[in-house]
Amino acid sequence: MSVEGMLEEGAAGFGVSLSREDTGKFVRYLEILKAWNRCINLTALKDDGEIAVSHFLDSLSAAKFVRGAGSLLDIGSGAGFPGIPLKIAMPELEVTLVESAHKKTAFMNEVIRELGLTGIRAVWGRAEDESNGVPRGAFPRVISRAVSGVKEVLALSEPYLGPGGSIILMRGRRGEEEWEQAGADVHARYRLVEKMRFTLPYGGQTRVIFALEPTPR
Ligand code: SAM
Repeated sequence: MSVEGMLEEGAAGFGVSLSREDTGKFVRYLEILKAWNRCINLTALKDDGEIAVSHFLDSLSAAKFVRGAGSLLDIGSGAGFPGIPLKIAMPELEVTLVESAHKKTAFMNEVIRELGLTGIRAVWGRAEDESNGVPRGAFPRVISRAVSGVKEVLALSEPYLGPGGSIILMRGRRGEEEWEQAGADVHARYRLVEKMRFTLPYGGQTRVIFALEPTPR
């Protein structure tokens, strides 16, 4: 099956409808990713299908957690995951990507420019840096995929949450174990609103997504 076919069919499995224009943007994203990956380390994956499944479709798996939210902060986006794929699929979502590695931020800005995406920006900085220019207390959803430990990434995420907002953690197959090991303080501080354990299509790996809300202090 073509990459476009995999993306269209795979995304539909996550309740996401991709137009031909959308899949074209993913194909262009893939080309830019492979070109930049020759010079900077953005992904260990080389095969187009693997990138489409393990990066693009995996990013889209979080669609139901952010749909209709209005705006989204993606912490530690790396090569743009999950924020850029979610933006392609949901153009109405305002997306901020914060990433501490300068070259990865430059890459994301290149993708945003090349794909003609609007209402999305990539910020170079550390999430914990007070002067990174990203507003605190302002986002209905704060998401991260494969960023540090559960306890650490929750501490990075919480200051950015707006009232009633939720934190979306995208983890690998050991996600539940990581949540258990985060400890009693974390479990008392955050309410587990939803957990989704699933296997990526086309022989992909198992993943777990958590939606968490801070409990009132
Ligand atoms: N989310 C991307 C993905 O799923 O492919 C990248 C995951 S990578 C394992 C973690 C990323 O988080 C790296 O690009 C790293 O530079 C970035 N990062 C780590 N700590 C950070 C922090 N405190 N603030 C912003 N970015 C951070």
